[in-house]
Amino acid sequence: MSFQSINPYNQKTIKIYRAEGRGVIERKLKQADRAFADWSALSLSDRTEHLRKAGAYLTANKQRYGELITAEMGKTLKEAMAEVEKCATTCTFYADHAAEFLADQIIQSDAANSFVTYQPLGAVLAIMPWNFPFWQAMRFAIPGLIAGNVGLLKHAPNVMGCALAIEEAFREAGLPSGVFQSLIVDVPVVEDLLKDRRVKAVTLTGSGRAGASVAGIAGGQIKKSVLELGGSDALIVLADADLEKAAEVAVKSRMQNAGQSCIAAKRFIVDKSVKKAFTDLVLQRIKQMRQGNPLDEATTMGPMARMDLADNIERQYRASIAKGAKLLTGGNRLGCNVQPILLDKVKPGMVAFDEETFGPLAVLVEAKDESDAIRLANQSIYGLGSALWTTDLDKADRLARQIEAGSVFINGLMRSDARVPFGGIKTSGFGRELSEAGIKEFVNIKTVWVD
Ligand code: NDP
Repeated sequence: MSFQSINPYNQKTIKIYRAEGRGVIERKLKQADRAFADWSALSLSDRTEHLRKAGAYLTANKQRYGELITAEMGKTLKEAMAEVEKCATTCTFYADHAAEFLADQIIQSDAANSFVTYQPLGAVLAIMPWNFPFWQAMRFAIPGLIAGNVGLLKHAPNVMGCALAIEEAFREAGLPSGVFQSLIVDVPVVEDLLKDRRVKAVTLTGSGRAGASVAGIAGGQIKKSVLELGGSDALIVLADADLEKAAEVAVKSRMQNAGQSCIAAKRFIVDKSVKKAFTDLVLQRIKQMRQGNPLDEATTMGPMARMDLADNIERQYRASIAKGAKLLTGGNRLGCNVQPILLDKVKPGMVAFDEETFGPLAVLVEAKDESDAIRLANQSIYGLGSALWTTDLDKADRLARQIEAGSVFINGLMRSDARVPFGGIKTSGFGRELSEAGIKEFVNIKTVWVD
């Protein structure tokens, strides 16, 4: 069994990684267990200093790591380097705030003394996808390790180079060996790992299919899971929106990372009174996008990460056209390079409305008025992020509360940010990453009561 890293831009094989056998996995589990004992015994400030150094190491190596990300999954070098830098700033964020997030909490009660303390659980397994190969893994690892846990990463098979680079970054920053390890393993091994007593919990970012399987096994073992799954985020444009800005951000949100983001604006839901004007602005911006070698500075959109993913987006847009959607631009394809697509007249019942579309496919959905817009936004099995464009902030506040999603960004780009919780509802998953909520997902919230 082996895993191949293939450059999606030119289909050249970068490297082949041999899957690790039972002996290696057992050695890594033992190492994780031993490392946990020492790592969790360190003071919080010692751990935060280690992570601060990891952040500095990432910044110093962002060109090299960026090139690796671009080679393995195709995003532009600019996007890849920004991803590494985001990991670095998140190291600093948690280094600065972990003491406050994890401080004992005194509880007023009739006890002589009662408080809550936050203690690590042990080894946490992270099953991660290829779309943000550093960020997805790091946004679990940084708070998880600072809290005193140790990490085991099962990365996606096409980004094993990134998996090993993340391990290297922690090692070179001086974290003790065993605190963070990448496992070069295939899906069937995950079940054995989840059943191993040394693995205490699991976090997964990926498809609903993967999440349901992993959470099912973890649940059977009474182990905690956090799931960050797909999304079909609505970007709602109301009649009074700043259309220029909304169109600019909509295209960025949908097309960055070649559309392969869980929180991309996957459905533009637009008030009918401004639909024509908004469509023209979006179309103009999509046509300005430059495809090409993701290493070139002039390229604004690289290839999709894998051939099967490009096949899928092609299926989705063609199936939607067959049901009455109208193609305004794009759709040509050369291997993984998919020309950005804009579809109009998309409605519920079409694939582009009902399914998660994980590629450069923007769709326009007409809403009769603001309540129709909210109804359409909520007509999804997903509930991850969303965006709302209106100049009336009182209305925005009221409507934001009606949107069924883990986040609502008003007049701005839906994004993950270490300072605020990130995660979804409905089939987008459960649990939260980032912020204080994220660092508290994998801790024992222990009550101490003195009578
Ligand atoms: P997957 O969900 O299959 O892969 C994500 C990770 O989960 C990979 O490491 C994968 O490993 C692993 N995995 C998959 N199935 C299982 C399982 N049964 N048990 C344990 N681990 C598992 O995503 P794909 O790459 O196949 O992409 C398919 C679709 O998923 C996309 O088109 C998109 O809709 C969605 N997706 C959403 C993401 C998000 O950010 N929310 C990220 C990636 C995908 P392996 O590849 O070895 O199967």
